[in-house]
Amino acid sequence: MVVILKNHADEARVKNLTDWLQSQKLMINEVRGEYQTILGLIGDTSRVDIDLIQSLDIVEDVKRISEPYKCANRNFHPDDTVVEAGGHKIGGGNFQFFAGPCSVESREQIIGIAKDVKAAGANFLRGGAFKPRTSPYAFQGMGAEGLELLLEAKKETGMPIITEIMDTAHIPLFEDVDIIQVGARNMQNFELLKELGHVNKPIFLKRGLSATLQELLMSAEYIMAGGNENVILCERGIRTFEPATRNTLDISAIPLLKEKTHLPVVVDPSHASGIARLVEPMAYAAAACGADGIMIEVHNDPAHALCDGPQALTAPQFAKVVTGVEKIREALK
Ligand code: PEP
Ligand code: MN
Repeated sequence: MVVILKNHADEARVKNLTDWLQSQKLMINEVRGEYQTILGLIGDTSRVDIDLIQSLDIVEDVKRISEPYKCANRNFHPDDTVVEAGGHKIGGGNFQFFAGPCSVESREQIIGIAKDVKAAGANFLRGGAFKPRTSPYAFQGMGAEGLELLLEAKKETGMPIITEIMDTAHIPLFEDVDIIQVGARNMQNFELLKELGHVNKPIFLKRGLSATLQELLMSAEYIMAGGNENVILCERGIRTFEPATRNTLDISAIPLLKEKTHLPVVVDPSHASGIARLVEPMAYAAAACGADGIMIEVHNDPAHALCDGPQALTAPQFAKVVTGVEKIREALK
């Protein structure tokens, strides 16, 4: 981190600042020019509050040279992280398909879809039991009962399951879940992230609706700093000025995240577009950009789905996407 001081900054106040920085275990390399002084801070600056330094009236500007995340940073961990869940590997060249309905709606629905997506090539069954809905009057998910039905589908098909958590109090209910999903709306629920840092299970962290890549990585850092290094990132579209799609799939996020972090990156083209017919081309774009997996919403009867029907594929449509994605991955080898 570099701190540029204002011209003729008061010496006593500069000394206060340097004493304080040294008390934070940072070494200071001071470069005095004719008009300006620059302080180069050497050491772990991840705990330094950049806004606080910026607000001092002796400070002209502050710039970070290194990223504020350490555990998630590829510089400190050059090899790809390979997350293992339910007998499958994700990352480091291992690609997986996550498929299933937006929400668990009934035993018949989830078991039927589980069988269909498995036959179509899915490796993980997804399905929300606790649903974050914009309207309190919309279907809120089946809750604990939905989790039980997912576990039944797992038993019946042998597919590992991934489902969303919304409350730290529910962690014990997720005991037999293979991957815990943190939804876009909870990406910055820091108390939830901290608790998940102590859970011995992979966490699937979705990018917030308006979150920058750095904010996504800082949220991963919350989980990893607690000791849980098994984090999978998910690009699921961000909110832009364009109303033609539900969100805008940020495909440049995939190669950029792969540069910045060693964590696997999965893409969700369903929430990114909100339109079923766009899911296939967006999935292909994601595969071409180097994603480590794709999450797709699949429903047995999209027109009557209790949640996110307009973006749901049928199982045969999903099977077509699996084939196409595999061709793209093969072509890029
Ligand atoms: C979901 O996966 O069902 C979901 C609610 O997604 P997101 O958090 O990305 O909106
Ligand atoms: Mn959904």
